[in-house]
Amino acid sequence: MRIVILGGGFGGVNTALKLGKKLKDSNHEIILVAEKPHFLFRPSLPWVIFDERKLDDATLPLDKILQKVGVQFIQKTVIQVLPKNNRVVLQDDTILEYDYLVIATGGLPDFEKTPGLKENTYSCYFEDDTKKTKEQIENIKSGDQILIGASDGNPCTCLSYELLFEMDAYLQKQKINASITYFTYESDLFDYVGNKVSSTLEKLLNEKKIPFYKNVTVEKVEPNLLHLTNGMTFPFTFSLITPAFKGADYIFASPDLEHENGIIPVHNTLQTKQWENIYSVGDTIQNPAVIHKSGWAAEVEAHIAAENIHLSLQGKTPEKKYVETALGMMELGTEGGMAFVKYPNKRNEAPMIEMATQGVLPHLMKVAFEKYYLWKLR
Ligand SMILES: Cc1cc2nc3c(=O)[nH]c(=O)nc-3n(C[C@H](O)[C@H](O)[C@H](O)COP(=O)(O)OP(=O)(O)OC[C@H]3O[C@@H](n4cnc5c(N)ncnc54)[C@H](O)[C@@H]3O)c2cc1C
Repeated sequence: MRIVILGGGFGGVNTALKLGKKLKDSNHEIILVAEKPHFLFRPSLPWVIFDERKLDDATLPLDKILQKVGVQFIQKTVIQVLPKNNRVVLQDDTILEYDYLVIATGGLPDFEKTPGLKENTYSCYFEDDTKKTKEQIENIKSGDQILIGASDGNPCTCLSYELLFEMDAYLQKQKINASITYFTYESDLFDYVGNKVSSTLEKLLNEKKIPFYKNVTVEKVEPNLLHLTNGMTFPFTFSLITPAFKGADYIFASPDLEHENGIIPVHNTLQTKQWENIYSVGDTIQNPAVIHKSGWAAEVEAHIAAENIHLSLQGKTPEKKYVETALGMMELGTEGGMAFVKYPNKRNEAPMIEMATQGVLPHLMKVAFEKYYLWKLR
């Protein structure tokens, strides 16, 4: 059998590693296709834009990672999936046949959803935009007005808080007297993890005298002026606004692949709702149990998809299921960091256990996690 994995991020790489180990001495073939030659460890990117890491330190060559577990790597762009024929079309019209397919091509920032956002904000999702953002941050000077926020539908708001607190720390370190304003579409600050986190973040922002606006929606962004749908406007000289996500272009070019704005509906087994031999993991999926998208969630999903494919290869039912969980660490600039956990409570009526802690320790944990993760993949 041939298993083809599309994408070399957290989802694709972890599916490949898990399946590669399980199928090491079998005749099954595993191929991973990605358009870039390396894995990008995105959690390091906020450090890169504030000059605390080099971009090269956040990337690892995919061929070396995959070689160790006998997974073949093809560096090409996917242009179409033909599920009725079990085929993937790559650039140059190369055809790749599969028995099982794993779609892990992530989410692209959907800047076009909000008029003017693409032209008037900076970001750090890929190498190119990260470099441009770093250069622009180096130009920030006293008197500038900085706007940071999460626009509606962004599925990883944790990032916007990291950018906010890291920007505050950077300005203090560089002795730049610039103002910061924060906004989010969330009803409460990072309310996904619960009240304790929201109130801790509010307290920190109040102490720092950083104005913040909750439950607001961006209408449009003009050069140096943001408009909210409630009529408020914010002038700015530099902005970092995280957008909603959409799926990769080839998903839109695949008429037999059900999707919503390129995001693919999946069962809790990570099989797509439409095709039982096609799985999808990571930022590109839509499932009620995956509210907050993250590298951590992508890795958990990847392991479940790999287990289920392995079960199917043995003629068994793919029965492993994803349940809503979250584990994360976010940087809080001069305040250290915050670690949070959210997982189902099996012992009493409360549906979820939510825990969070803040200070120097979570910051050190995040640094240790970065070192460990990159060492593990090397
Ligand atoms: C700045 C930043 C900081 C973050 N910090 C954290 C954090 O601290 N902790 C955490 O858990 N999460 C964090 N996240 C979120 C995390 O990075 C994402 O959730 C994660 O990368 C999603 O993994 P993925 O495999 O779905 O997609 P991606 O990592 O986006 O990987 C997609 C892969 O698909 C490939 N691809 C895309 N289109 C095609 C195509 N047409 N053909 C071939 N290949 C294609 C890409 O080249 C890439 O290899 C952060 C995100 C950002 C942007």
